[in-house]
Amino acid sequence: MPELPELEVIRQRLRQHFVHKVIRDFTILKPYVLKNYFRGDLSGEEGEDIARRGKYLIFQMTSHNVYVHLKLRGSVDHVMPSKKIGKSVNAVFVLDEGKRIEFRETGTNKRMSIYVRNRRESPEFIQKLGIEPLSDELTVEELGRLLRRERKQLKSFLCRQGTIAGIGNAYSDEILWKARLAPFKLSFHLTAQEVLNLHSAILHVLYWGIKEASCSKRLGKRDFLMIHGRRNSPCPRCGDNIRTVSFSNRDMFYCPNCQTGGKILRDRRMSKFYR
Ligand SMILES: [Zn+2]
Repeated sequence: MPELPELEVIRQRLRQHFVHKVIRDFTILKPYVLKNYFRGDLSGEEGEDIARRGKYLIFQMTSHNVYVHLKLRGSVDHVMPSKKIGKSVNAVFVLDEGKRIEFRETGTNKRMSIYVRNRRESPEFIQKLGIEPLSDELTVEELGRLLRRERKQLKSFLCRQGTIAGIGNAYSDEILWKARLAPFKLSFHLTAQEVLNLHSAILHVLYWGIKEASCSKRLGKRDFLMIHGRRNSPCPRCGDNIRTVSFSNRDMFYCPNCQTGGKILRDRRMSKFYR
């Protein structure tokens, strides 16, 4: 699933193809992706900017905004007119000279969401999002306040979009490893030094992720990640084996030596049977 770093790179790459371009047409090819009633027409509007809020890309036009959440397997690309529209295309902006911006999704579990809203509206799903981690709002003090307020395990805390927006399974693993924090540690048990470490790890990992993702030819391949997806590989910092543990039906990665004092974590789904 694309997270803040990949979405930032997509946004930067697409802006030149969208800003100041006239929208010839916006077509939804798979009706199920459109999550709100919209029977209007976007043709003739001009692209003003592409913004991002949390994991939403926001295509801002003269009178409307198109909000896109790519979910697990969605992608968005600029395409030349000569290329045929493939089966995986869910929706498409047709721009000047037939150039297109296509929203695609592969696999069987299709979940991409698109909303078309009047520019003046501030949709509820955007209002519900938490703080932007790379904005000035996420100070050490604010992070400390959120950690005390949420009373959650750190892994859940980082992935909860209503608290901090844009971080998911992969980058939360990287952040916790960077900060040498146990994923299941409770958020209100952090010392002042640990809050400071977590804050700097969030900023470091996300800026580093943007830089690395922008260099990669295949966005989403993420072969630069230190521990996420590297089960049984040596930890780049200490050489211990990277371990996985199940969390919300997904694999979470950590280094026992760096993060849990050597303790091997048990699957949370199973743990009730062992207690
Ligand atoms: Zn380690």
